[in-house]
Amino acid sequence: MNQNNTNLSHYENSLAFAQQLDQADPLKTMREQFHIPQHKGQDEIYLCGNSLGLQPKLTAEYLNYELSQWQKLGVKGHFSGDFPWMPYHEFLTQGFADLVGAKLSEVVAMNSLTTNLHLMMVSFYQPTAKRYKIVIEDHAFPSDHYAVESQVRFHGFDPKDAMILIKPRDGEETLRTEDILTLIAEHGDEIALIMLPGVQYYTGQVLDMPAITKVGHEHGCKVGFDLAHATGNVAMQLHDWQVDFACWCTYKYLNSGAGSVAGCFVHERHHANKALPRFAGWWGHNKNTRFKMDNQFDPIESVEAWQLSNPPILSLAAIRASLDTIKQAGGIEKLQEKSRKLTGFLRYLLIAELGDDIHIITPAEPGAHGCQLSLTVNTHGIDGKTVFERIEQAGVTGDWRYPNVIRVAPVPLYNSFEDCYRFVQILKNSLTA
Ligand SMILES: *Cc1c(COP(=O)(O)O)cnc(C)c1O
Repeated sequence: MNQNNTNLSHYENSLAFAQQLDQADPLKTMREQFHIPQHKGQDEIYLCGNSLGLQPKLTAEYLNYELSQWQKLGVKGHFSGDFPWMPYHEFLTQGFADLVGAKLSEVVAMNSLTTNLHLMMVSFYQPTAKRYKIVIEDHAFPSDHYAVESQVRFHGFDPKDAMILIKPRDGEETLRTEDILTLIAEHGDEIALIMLPGVQYYTGQVLDMPAITKVGHEHGCKVGFDLAHATGNVAMQLHDWQVDFACWCTYKYLNSGAGSVAGCFVHERHHANKALPRFAGWWGHNKNTRFKMDNQFDPIESVEAWQLSNPPILSLAAIRASLDTIKQAGGIEKLQEKSRKLTGFLRYLLIAELGDDIHIITPAEPGAHGCQLSLTVNTHGIDGKTVFERIEQAGVTGDWRYPNVIRVAPVPLYNSFEDCYRFVQILKNSLTA
């Protein structure tokens, strides 16, 4: 196994050691702030927060508050109570800004992730006869691929020509930063937009967002990131990195419930640009004159200008509960600190216990991974899917991604070092025919 395990030597492969790490964990009480699904009367080993985060206990409280406001106040709920609905999205701004490293004017909760990708491409994919290509990954999340392909066709280009798909080198599973930067340099004057993930969903690799943004801009390209697997997982500095735009969902590491409203970032340098094409709706209009209903669109000078509709308050309440829970844990820096230990421990255990029977695709270098490890199984005539089904039956929730990866993500908010230990024991028992 070609894993870099030099920095893993301070761990021990035992239940007692895992429990010791939990005892010493400054975030150990955060688990009590979540509902943990049960398996045969015990807590499941839930390693699927990369797909659907668990429910914070605050969520029901915040949702019930809004339901009762609606019961008591009807339409007046827009302007009454501690969290009036009219400006409700503004209660989420600080939390989002802290997570992605943005100014308050640069982040907003609106729509859903794929919708936001489209809205951002309307503004930031402005192809010309010479500069019309979009760089994405070869193994992009299908929704991103469809969104890009349909935008390219919408502008009258042929996706075969206008989409540049980056893939790992032959025999490798993750992308090399140098290869991405070289590709940008080689095609620079043809590229209108670079749209890559912050964290790759299949491999768990964190891309070098600042380097990609810098080189993209040097070649005159716009640069946007899909942060579905990055927000709430790794700390970022989108403002300082000069990223043009970014979008993320809130049901993965942001624990806001299936299909909850998404987040969006637009760098402040674009806010006053009235020449930027934009699909508009009334929620993007100047708040002081919105209700004059005079049909002269006057965009808010912030990312809020990209809002279309008044948002679903129940979903925003769930996001507020999640952001407050993250704040209680001390924010993304604290979560990332624990995450590195937790995922580091999981990697150590996998190597110590299973050696060559498992291959970890996710890069080992600090900064190149978040919570998630993506595993392939290399054993003795049992296929990965069977192994996955066995661990599920034994009380582990991870996920299976076609063609052959098991993804597991210990989440610092609610997973323990003991979860990692027990998971590896179950996996070991599932590998024998
Ligand atoms: C989860 C995820 C999506 C999901 O898109 P929705 O519009 O929220 O359904 C899209 N892209 C990536 C990279 C994802 O990880």
